Amino acid sequence: MLDLHVHLIGHQDRKVTRENIRHFLEEAQRKQIRQIGFADHDLYWEDLNFDLIREVGLEYPDLQVRVGLEVDYLEGEEKSIFQKIDAYSFDYLIGSVHQIDGWLFDFPEEERNHLMKDPDQLYEQYFHLVEKAANSGLFDIIGHFDLIKIFKIRPRTDVRKLAARALEAVKDQHLALEINTNGRYKPVGEFYPEYKLIEMIHKMEIPFTLGSDAHEPGVVGRDLWEVCELLRSVGVKKIQGFNLRKSEPISLI
Ligand SMILES: [Zn+2]
Ligand SMILES: [Zn+2]
Repeated sequence: MLDLHVHLIGHQDRKVTRENIRHFLEEAQRKQIRQIGFADHDLYWEDLNFDLIREVGLEYPDLQVRVGLEVDYLEGEEKSIFQKIDAYSFDYLIGSVHQIDGWLFDFPEEERNHLMKDPDQLYEQYFHLVEKAANSGLFDIIGHFDLIKIFKIRPRTDVRKLAARALEAVKDQHLALEINTNGRYKPVGEFYPEYKLIEMIHKMEIPFTLGSDAHEPGVVGRDLWEVCELLRSVGVKKIQGFNLRKSEPISLI
């Protein structure tokens, strides 16, 4: 079992200290997680200390501690993103779309702005950016694939149709898609991505990885054992871990 979407510093809620790293790793042990990966927001680059994570990780020989980054995909900024991520030997990079034309759409106060838009157009704009993020060649994982549903606003068109091109790009670029359990604790109340997309992704033979999107130690691994069961029931046999940007399959059986 693994959890590759963990925010050590949250939204600058705490610093990177040995003690704070240990809190997360101890929770991972309690939840019987074999591989834990920290992927803080690239926005807080100046506050991060990747080497210290690797160092403290050595204190836990039964844990595979990985260092990643959750990168905000911004259209047209591919060059500067590349320069940033090229400065460190990450185990993996998560590409996430959090904004549409500068609009940070997943903030709680943005719900009313979602209601004012045409849902199909909103989903189309969002998945277009996910497709570009996948095709950018910058990332290993696409984060919270259908985040645009956060306020439970559904498109009129079948979401599988709206997401198809983005999924083709994920497949062509050999990326993994995470099941991110944090959506269950947002207004939408379900994992990212939703069940019918999980089935479609599996049929397309796109590999899955797992992430709790924990912004505090207690949330590490939340609901991920349940996700393993869910994936098994769909027919998934393995999930993907990462090591120095190479994928490593982990059996679900
Ligand atoms: Zn995110
Ligand atoms: Zn995150």
